[in-house]
Amino acid sequence: MSDQIRFLLNDTDLPRAWYNINADSPVAPAPVLNPATKEPVTPDDLAVLFPMNIIEQEVATDRYIDIPEEVREIYKLWRPTPLMRARRLEKALGTPAHIYYKYEGVSPSGSHKSNSAVPQAYYNKIAGTRAMTTETGAGQWGTALAMACQFFEMDLEVYMVRVSYNQKPYRRNLIETYGARIFASPTNRTSVGRAALAQVPDNPGSLGLAISEAAEVAALSGGHKKYGLGSVLNHVLLHQTVIGEEALKQMDLAGEYPDVVIGCVGGGSNFSGIAFPFLRENLRNGQRTRLLAVEPAATPSMTRGVYAFDYGDSAQMAPIVKMYTLGHDFIPPSIHAGGLRYHGMSPILSGLYNAGLIEATAVRQLDVFEAAVQFTRTEGILPAPESAHAIRTAIDEALQAKETGEKKVILFNLSGHGHFDLSAYSSYLSGQLEDDALPEAEITAIPERLPQVSLPA
Ligand SMILES: *Cc1c(COP(=O)(O)O)cnc(C)c1O
Repeated sequence: MSDQIRFLLNDTDLPRAWYNINADSPVAPAPVLNPATKEPVTPDDLAVLFPMNIIEQEVATDRYIDIPEEVREIYKLWRPTPLMRARRLEKALGTPAHIYYKYEGVSPSGSHKSNSAVPQAYYNKIAGTRAMTTETGAGQWGTALAMACQFFEMDLEVYMVRVSYNQKPYRRNLIETYGARIFASPTNRTSVGRAALAQVPDNPGSLGLAISEAAEVAALSGGHKKYGLGSVLNHVLLHQTVIGEEALKQMDLAGEYPDVVIGCVGGGSNFSGIAFPFLRENLRNGQRTRLLAVEPAATPSMTRGVYAFDYGDSAQMAPIVKMYTLGHDFIPPSIHAGGLRYHGMSPILSGLYNAGLIEATAVRQLDVFEAAVQFTRTEGILPAPESAHAIRTAIDEALQAKETGEKKVILFNLSGHGHFDLSAYSSYLSGQLEDDALPEAEITAIPERLPQVSLPA
């Protein structure tokens, strides 16, 4: 028992409900504004993109929302996921800290993204959607939704940022094997794409542009195609809470309770997924776990951005929300963690951070890869570059505990494996990976690039 490494749950322990932080959060949600009128959005505004059952979930206030049986049946292909004690890493660090990680890379698509892809496809299917559209940057979300749409017999069009499409041919092959159609964005299939190509013929694309293309196709489909987003939105964070609910039970099996819970943040979904059930225990049951979000120093929306209303995409077609942002037209340095390059942050998570209920830190790319390689060489799993941000911070916390002699209990989320990111590892190992500091001028210029909104009193 004392040297146990894996803490496993049975099928019957699979959570029956998602946890909705909105029921317990002391932060009132800010209004979401229509990008054209700058007035609060109506359900009808959103209905061109999402089915009504998902819109209802987006604004739900119930503490628990039942996971449909059809979704649980598919979750059982990889859930409950293992909780691991990183004993070999602890030993290599010489730390008295206990390091645990929840491993979401066991999902068929290789990351936590499937936890939301499956329910999104399910709710679309029962609402009568015939096909879905989406964007993908690094490729994890496109892969997860391709699998989910196949399971529910729906077509999917994936708009993949052109640089990633060219850099990661195997992601593209996997998405196609799941049965989806994939296009290098910008395409000539949409007016947004055609305009971008007219300006710059060999346009490398961006996440903002790919979102705009996928949304345009859904909006102009006459109602039979809907759009799915892999992070940021409330319902996506909700679906990810299965991670933290399982982890609570597994920490119990290990006979410990975390002093700190760590996750990387792109739009905020995997961190929220592991952290919100622990935040509930803080808010309702007197626990005092620190919840620590980790972002790249190259896209430091929480640690250096501003908390303000901004567009969700660069084309100014997505709703305006209140969040930590670097500005919708921020062009991130091309770091090798495609999933963390978003300019903004989930509005719920932003509100909690602003209220001091969660913490955030930023780490640099070279330090991240150093941690990733140390983890691979001790624990054997090659992490996604995104997930390695959480590993970096977990190691830093463990080294701090070594200084102070504290027997700290650390839990982090290993959001995915990095088997499709080997070219980034190759650059790191050959000494070609660059570090990335963001010039202060980029940060000071943010406020003047934000939309002007005047809110109803
Ligand atoms: C997409 C992705 C992320 C970042 O997105 P979040 O919504 O912040 O979780 C992190 N890790 C992996 C492996 C991803 O695929």
